Amino acid sequence: MRILISNDDGYLAPGIIALAEALAPIAEIVVVAPDSNRSGASNSLTLDRPLSVQRAGNGFYFVNGTPTDCVHIALTAMLDAPPDLVVSGINNGQNMGDDTLYSGTVAAATEAFLFGIPAIAFSQVNHGWAHVDSAARVARDIVERRFEMLTAPFLLNVNIPNLPYEELGPLTPTRLGRRHQAEPVIRAQDPRGRDIYWIGAPGACRDAGEGTDFHATQQGRVSITPLQIDLTHKTQLELLAQGIA
Ligand code: MN
Repeated sequence: MRILISNDDGYLAPGIIALAEALAPIAEIVVVAPDSNRSGASNSLTLDRPLSVQRAGNGFYFVNGTPTDCVHIALTAMLDAPPDLVVSGINNGQNMGDDTLYSGTVAAATEAFLFGIPAIAFSQVNHGWAHVDSAARVARDIVERRFEMLTAPFLLNVNIPNLPYEELGPLTPTRLGRRHQAEPVIRAQDPRGRDIYWIGAPGACRDAGEGTDFHATQQGRVSITPLQIDLTHKTQLELLAQGIA
């Protein structure tokens, strides 16, 4: 099996190092990741400047671009043949519910999916890398399952509680929950007295009921959500078509 690995926290992040170490014994791996933390980059491509690829001492490739840039360059310019799987992460913090729209971790997997390659995004629920080796072991377990019951290609979003491996609940299929709107920006002043703004925290859970990613991880379970990219609202489309006619 050949696996391309990327992330949005940058090629030096503990999560991608743990993920690569966990998958190296079972696959031929190539790591192509951003040169710095690009969390929140979503599905952005860099179109206003050229990109370059460099190779680190440990063999990881790093790019002065976004997670989507990394996977795009790897698939179209670096690899001789498409990999069997693309994995992203392990992210420093959860990507559940509405987070998935902003996530660079999910975006790296999405880029592979759009190229017709199965892809899995992995995130730890809490920041700080506690039990990242446990999460990497879970990631390897999940990769080894191969998911032949799914239509190909698949796009999976996995969130792993920060617990020791033995204390984790089972792998649980979920749907995305929903959040309330985000907290307001944090307003401050720079040293020259100008107003500056920090993007605020994500909103609290609005739908964290049974069956959601939020609910499963609150129970200590590993959440796995199959994603799709079709944003068309089919009911609204019907209403629109009827109303316009
Ligand atoms: Mn991140």
